[in-house]
Amino acid sequence: MGLKFFNTLSRSVQDFTPLAPPRVGMYCCGPTVYDFAHIGNWRTFVFADLVRRWLESKSFQVTHVMNITDVEDKIIKNVRERKTSLREFTGAYEAAFFADMKTLNCLEPHARPRATGYIPEIIALIEKLLARGIAYKAADGSVYFSIEKYRGCGCHYGQLLKLNLDALRAGERVRSDEYSKESVTDFALWKSRVPEDGDVFWPSPFGEGRPGWHIECSAMSMKILGDSFDLHLGGEDLVFPHHEDEIAQSEGATGKPFVKYWLHGAHLLVEGKKMSKSLGNYFTLRDLQAKGFAGREIRYLLLTAHYRETFNFTLEGLQGAKAALSRIDECLGKLREIAGASRATSPVTVESATLTAFTEALDDDLNISAAWGEIFKWVTDTNKRIAENSLTAGDAALALTTWEKIDSVLGIGTRPDAGVPPEMNSLLEARQAARKAKDFKKSDAIRDELKAKGWTIEDTPKGPRLKKI
Ligand code: AMP
Ligand code: ZN
Repeated sequence: MGLKFFNTLSRSVQDFTPLAPPRVGMYCCGPTVYDFAHIGNWRTFVFADLVRRWLESKSFQVTHVMNITDVEDKIIKNVRERKTSLREFTGAYEAAFFADMKTLNCLEPHARPRATGYIPEIIALIEKLLARGIAYKAADGSVYFSIEKYRGCGCHYGQLLKLNLDALRAGERVRSDEYSKESVTDFALWKSRVPEDGDVFWPSPFGEGRPGWHIECSAMSMKILGDSFDLHLGGEDLVFPHHEDEIAQSEGATGKPFVKYWLHGAHLLVEGKKMSKSLGNYFTLRDLQAKGFAGREIRYLLLTAHYRETFNFTLEGLQGAKAALSRIDECLGKLREIAGASRATSPVTVESATLTAFTEALDDDLNISAAWGEIFKWVTDTNKRIAENSLTAGDAALALTTWEKIDSVLGIGTRPDAGVPPEMNSLLEARQAARKAKDFKKSDAIRDELKAKGWTIEDTPKGPRLKKI
């Protein structure tokens, strides 16, 4: 069975056949950098990371693009209130975002364009739409996208979402980037400068102003991935109007199909409601780290549910995830002990029933629940064989190779102290105590003892760690 995804465009599960295999162009709408991302946002970015890792494990050559929305209403409001510059304000949250991304072990996108770095491309795209008569300049100097003119060219507005276009009133406009599907109206491509914008504006052939949110993504994605590309991802709240408007702007300008597959992740909920800044029901990654949870535990939790199912977040659920992950960690620890030296000689390629089942599950529209089912079946079976003493060093090495293949997709990683025998950890603690007591003779002696037993001490920002020599 080949890879299949649910495509929001066709509202069905379809075979995945990229436009120019093995290359795959993938764009995921990135964060608006006016605050720390919450773990609802992270659910979507971890989902995008899973899609990318799965495609790469199937030997596709993925170009992963994720934009940074670094100019919009909330950002401008903050810049004004804090009397700071746009770059200074957004730069801090952008850096925090990529630090969090590392904590969650998401692969860094190949390109991470900022909207403010693509103003010429955005202007060029708007000029194209003006030239084709699909955009128009309003009395206030802003430029709007005309849904009526777009439809008049034979184009389809409402590809991702069924809309009641009979209710459309020609020329009715909305300047705000976020609006509901009840208001299908002409939307802003370029917002003319108003006093509240302060220093945040750019010159353009249509006057000073700044881009609308939707046009940013059309301009950046097409500039980097071409007029037509394979995959576009985001959270389900972006289907309308953001993604619908991206399609309209892009197809309106180029006359070519914009994106072949649209994948949308369902929301992370808190007590049945979308986790969001405006509801105040959110946790940032940092909030959870401060409560003692590790990035890999949070990543694991976010990866437990199928991406198209809403998922309720609770701290108890996270505690449960931590316990479930410990089961895997323990099993891997025992396997490492048994495998011992035969690790190095184990075969690089591995075929196992678990891997086959894991592959089938993920090929089936990333059926992660079935994939975890297989993994826990494997853990139970492995633990049983360990208890029965029926696992040879070679078997254990093979099992570890299986896990490594699986984990290259899941990105859970190993516990930082995985594989360090308790005796070595005790020695490390004793050395720390000796150092604290300024008994350097003793601490050096313990370091030498550790070295003789094959372990070296590495200083990390989180304190000393043991590493196998
Ligand atoms: P934003 O920074 O608000 O533009 O959002 C970044 C990404 O997070 C978008 O793809 C949103 O769809 C997604 N997102 C926002 N809230 C949630 C949530 N509660 N659960 C899952 N994804 C979300
Ligand atoms: Zn976008």
